Amino acid sequence: MATVAQMLLWAGKELESTSETPMLDARVILAHVIGKDSIYVMTERDVVLPRAHEWVYREAIERRKKGTPIAYITGMKEFMGMDFRVSESVLIPRADTEVLVEKSIEILRDRKEAKVLDLCCGSGAIGLSIAKFVGGSHVVLADISQEAIGVSKENAFMLGLEGRAEFVVSDLFEGVSGSFDLIASNPPYISGEDMEKLPKDVADFEPHGALYGGEDGLDFYRKITENAISHLNRGGVLIFEIGYDQGDEVMDIMKRNGFKGIQLFRDLSGRPRVVFGELVPE
Ligand code: GLN
Repeated sequence: MATVAQMLLWAGKELESTSETPMLDARVILAHVIGKDSIYVMTERDVVLPRAHEWVYREAIERRKKGTPIAYITGMKEFMGMDFRVSESVLIPRADTEVLVEKSIEILRDRKEAKVLDLCCGSGAIGLSIAKFVGGSHVVLADISQEAIGVSKENAFMLGLEGRAEFVVSDLFEGVSGSFDLIASNPPYISGEDMEKLPKDVADFEPHGALYGGEDGLDFYRKITENAISHLNRGGVLIFEIGYDQGDEVMDIMKRNGFKGIQLFRDLSGRPRVVFGELVPE
């Protein structure tokens, strides 16, 4: 029988070779396994763990030791101050993506009952965050992956957004009907060359279908921009997350398709991360 302190010590040592933050990982995973918060794990050090918890914890630490990202072990990731459920069928929401959501919220602030589409929604983190922060908005979440739509439905439910969210399994716009005030998308955008250079934790565990954007990484920007035109209301906005070196190309694709007021925004590390433009029909 082992105490909280003993298990943490063991796990911290196990993870030394894999993780840069072994003790933090050990605590977060233990808190998840026993269904308590990190404060409990840090203060109740002499509590003896039930055998079942100890066994589940050992398994979880083994997975982490093999490189599994923490979010896939706990099944949760915080984004925009909310807890999102994740599984290995969806990308783990990145802090860098928050700038896309913040910009979208700003754009929609004065639009009443905004209609929003999150294309390639994955966990739904983008679309559901927009819905949460823009009162009266309605969001359609679309993804080619049935599993991703399952995860995004769960998230909508957990955030109390069932009434304002709709879901569609769809290859880009194929199954999407209606028109929108804002179309947001964080599509797969890694080029063939860059797929080879992905960090191991991304390459080995995150879904490649959500990462690979064709040989030059721009396939989805081209397809989405061309088809967005027939799905945007007058003055509607198309907003993309982009790779840090794709700003010029994506702005160019939008320009060629008639978008106006095209702008680029940077993420928290100062790298180009978001491009948006407005559709103003002649
Ligand atoms: N930002 C992700 C990464 O660095 C890629 C996301 C995407 O392709 N949409 O792995």
